Amino acid sequence: MTGRSDVLIVGGSIAGIRTAEGLRRLSFEGSITVLEAGPDLPYDRPALSKQVLAGGESAESVRLRSQADLDKARIELRRGCRGVGLDVDARTVRLDDGTAIEYSDLVIATGSAPRRLPAAPVRPGVHYLRTVRDALDLRDAIDGPVRVVVVGAGFIGSEVAAVAATRSASVTVVEPYAFPLSRVLGDLVGKRLARLHESKGVQLVLGRSVSEVGDDGAGGKRVVLDDGTTLDCDVVVVGVGAIPHTDWLVGSGLDVADGVVCDEFCRASAPHVFAAGDVARWPNELFAESMRIEHWTNAVEQAGVVAWNILHPDNPRAYAPVPYVWSDQYGSRLQIVGRPRAEDEVRIVLDDPADDSLVALYVRDQRLAGAFGLNAPSRMLVLRRSLAARASLDEVMATVNEKG
Ligand SMILES: Cc1cc2nc3c(=O)[nH]c(=O)nc-3n(C[C@H](O)[C@H](O)[C@H](O)COP(=O)(O)OP(=O)(O)OC[C@H]3O[C@@H](n4cnc5c(N)ncnc54)[C@H](O)[C@@H]3O)c2cc1C
Repeated sequence: MTGRSDVLIVGGSIAGIRTAEGLRRLSFEGSITVLEAGPDLPYDRPALSKQVLAGGESAESVRLRSQADLDKARIELRRGCRGVGLDVDARTVRLDDGTAIEYSDLVIATGSAPRRLPAAPVRPGVHYLRTVRDALDLRDAIDGPVRVVVVGAGFIGSEVAAVAATRSASVTVVEPYAFPLSRVLGDLVGKRLARLHESKGVQLVLGRSVSEVGDDGAGGKRVVLDDGTTLDCDVVVVGVGAIPHTDWLVGSGLDVADGVVCDEFCRASAPHVFAAGDVARWPNELFAESMRIEHWTNAVEQAGVVAWNILHPDNPRAYAPVPYVWSDQYGSRLQIVGRPRAEDEVRIVLDDPADDSLVALYVRDQRLAGAFGLNAPSRMLVLRRSLAARASLDEVMATVNEKG
C-alpha cells in the first residue's frame, strides 16, 4: 500500500517538527507527514542531561508539542513508524510496516545516535543517553551515594558528571585527551574546565581510554583502562559522541558521508530531497568548511532554511550560520560560537574569578574563528554577531571589551 504526502519528513524531533512548523508559517497549505521511529511525542533533548537527570523536571515538561498543537498545525505525526528505505526515482519512502509513502518533497531529519564503545555494550549498569527513557533510567541509577564512572568528558559526559556529583554520587570521569574538551578548545581552556570538575569533587582520569567494561564480581561494574588501572563502580555512563542516522538510506543512491551530503541550500544529492539537523552535512560558506553539527540551535535554524527552500526553489537561501552550542555544568553556563580549534591562537579577553567568568577568542589567519565563554552570555552573543558580520579582529576586540 502506498500513501502520499506533499511534504514527508522522516524524524520527528526538533529539526523535523520545526521544518513542518516553518512550512506552515510560510503559508504552505499542502499535506505534511512526519514519521518518527520512537513512541513519544516530540521532546527537547538538552534538558535530559540537565533538569530531567537532576530530578527537577518530568518527562512531560520537556515535550516540544502536544498532539493538539500538531493537529492545529495540520501536521500528521506517525509515531512508532520507521523509514527503512528511500527510492529517489519513484520519490517514495518505505516504512517498517511494509507500506510506502510517496512525496513531492522529502526532508531527512533522522538525527544521530550515541556512538557505541565496543568495550562497553549496553547491559545492566551501562548507560548511554539519548532518549527520555535513557534519562529516566539513568536518573534512577544515580539516585543515592553510588559510584559512577563517566566515559568521555565531552558535553554530555560532563553534564552527567555534574548532575551525579550534585546528587551525592562519587564520580570519576575518564577522558582520552589531556583535559575536558581540549581536543577542540585546547589545553588552556581545557585546564579551566578540569578545575571546574575537580572543584566539585569529581575525579578526572585524563589521557586514558577504556579497554573493557566488565563485572566486578560483587554485583557492580569494573572499568579497565588502557594502562591496566581498574575502576570499580555501580554505574557506567558512556558519552563518546554521536553518529548520524543514515543506515536506512543505504542503497538509495543518495550521497552519504558522515551525514547526508547537501549543497549550501541543504539540498541532498537527489531532486526534492533536503536534510536538516544532526544528520545533515553541508558547506557553510561563512566558514568555507563542510560541516555537520550536533547542536540544538543548528537543528532549529537549519529547519527554517529548509522550509523556505522547499517553497522557494527558484530563490533558495544558502545556509551559512555561526555554529552555537551551550552546556550547563555545576551551575555554570558554557558556550561556544563559531569553529574554534585547539591549534588556534587563544586570546583571553575576560577572566574574572569573582563570578568565575572567562572568554577566550580563537584566532586563525588574523581573524576571529570562534570563541568560548564561561558564564559570559552577553559577550558571547556579541561575538556570535561579530562572526556573522565577519568583523575584523580590531572591531571584535573593541566590541567585546565594551561589554561590561
Ligand atoms: C542528552 C542530550 C543533551 C543535549 N544537550 C544539548 C545542549 O545543551 N545544547 C545543544 O546545543 N545541544 C544539545 N544536545 C544536542 C541536540 O539535542 C541535538 O542537536 C538535537 O536533538 C538534534 O535534533 P534533530 O532533530 O536533528 O535530531 P534528533 O533529536 O536526534 O531526532 C531525530 C529523530 O529521528 C528519529 N529517527 C531516526 N531514524 C529514523 C527513521 N529511520 N525513521 C523515523 N524516525 C527516525 C529518531 O527517533 C529521533 O527522534 C543534546 C543532546 C542530548 C542527547
